[in-house]
Amino acid sequence: MSPLVKERVPMSSPDLTEAERRAVLEVLSTPVLSMGKQTPAFEESVRKFSGAAHAIAVNSGTSGLHLCVRAAGFGAGDLVITTPFSFIASSNVLLYENAVPIFIDVDINTGNIDPSRLAEAVEQLLKGGKAAEKWLPRKGAIAKKPKGVLAVDVFGQPADYDAITAIATEYDLLLIEDSCEALGAGYKGRQAGRFGQMAVYAFYPNKQITTGEGGVIVTDDATAADFMRALRNQGRAPEDTWLQHTHLGYNYRLPELSAALGRVQMERLNELLAKREQVAAWYTERLKKVEQMEVQHLADTTTRMSWFVYVIRLATQISREKVAHLLMDAGIPTRPYFAPIHLQPFMVERFGYQPGDFPIVEDLGRRGLALPFSSVMTEEQVDLVCNELKKAIPEALEK
Ligand SMILES: *Cc1c(COP(=O)(O)O)cnc(C)c1O
Repeated sequence: MSPLVKERVPMSSPDLTEAERRAVLEVLSTPVLSMGKQTPAFEESVRKFSGAAHAIAVNSGTSGLHLCVRAAGFGAGDLVITTPFSFIASSNVLLYENAVPIFIDVDINTGNIDPSRLAEAVEQLLKGGKAAEKWLPRKGAIAKKPKGVLAVDVFGQPADYDAITAIATEYDLLLIEDSCEALGAGYKGRQAGRFGQMAVYAFYPNKQITTGEGGVIVTDDATAADFMRALRNQGRAPEDTWLQHTHLGYNYRLPELSAALGRVQMERLNELLAKREQVAAWYTERLKKVEQMEVQHLADTTTRMSWFVYVIRLATQISREKVAHLLMDAGIPTRPYFAPIHLQPFMVERFGYQPGDFPIVEDLGRRGLALPFSSVMTEEQVDLVCNELKKAIPEALEK
């Protein structure tokens, strides 16, 4: 943004009230700023909401996903099938353990993992030889039976889990669900985060609820839950003392201040989700008939979209850069969404990916534009963004 143009709508915003401020201040008036009773209470609220047997709070969604990868036992050279249309963390956590992300192209409508490609990839990787090679990166991987799937609920819409879990069951693949964008989303009436052996919700300030930084892992697997709790806490098993560490662990603990904030946000979750739904509806009403762009596609299986961002797809002949620039000049921030993971510099260097490897992901990556979005957005602000957008699109038509 040019320093001369004042931002008229924030890109995103947390939704905080006196109740959150009071809860955080109450923790500040105690000496217990870590490992107190706020964390288990916050975990319990997320656990109950999700319907899982166990919930483990951590200091970011990324740490949560990393612990899932450790608990899954994905290690050096193991192949894990995942999507390049995601936030970088879902692939990075595999690299932390030297596992190899095997990317597959996505469903063009939802941007989520395409189950038919997943089935094909697994079958051909099992077959080996030339058939398997097609699914591997140019370097840095050896064909073998994949160990797992890491699915992502993109923009708050669940992936197609009946199809994915059928494949995972048939081929004995461990499924991790990255629900970091999807707290509260529904797939055929069931909660996002309930389909993998483990799943993670995240609470950065632009997510549905926030703890500042933070995440919660949910799982029904008691052994994995105990292991992840130990890893979160410097590898201390339940019977370990403060300076005894059964495992190689981390400090992934969530501060009590954050947990207290999260507790209140969870109490307000239904209100926050409903407000986000309203803002998304205002946008869709105004934009669904605009030419040269599409609004978010909802799959039939999505019984509730948990709106994380509001992303539009511009037509190929519209310059996204131009649209973004015109909006910026009008004081409206936007973000290109997502940048394909396989084309990030370190991924190219390590695995030899090239433009053209995942055409659908790259196409979505070129055309997606996230508009300002939060639960505190007013209808007037939505009007402002939509009016400026409707002016900008025809001006950005490439001849
Ligand atoms: C937000 C997010 C994460 C976790 O991010 P943190 O900033 O570490 O909390 C992971 N995956 C996806 C898809 C996300 O959107």
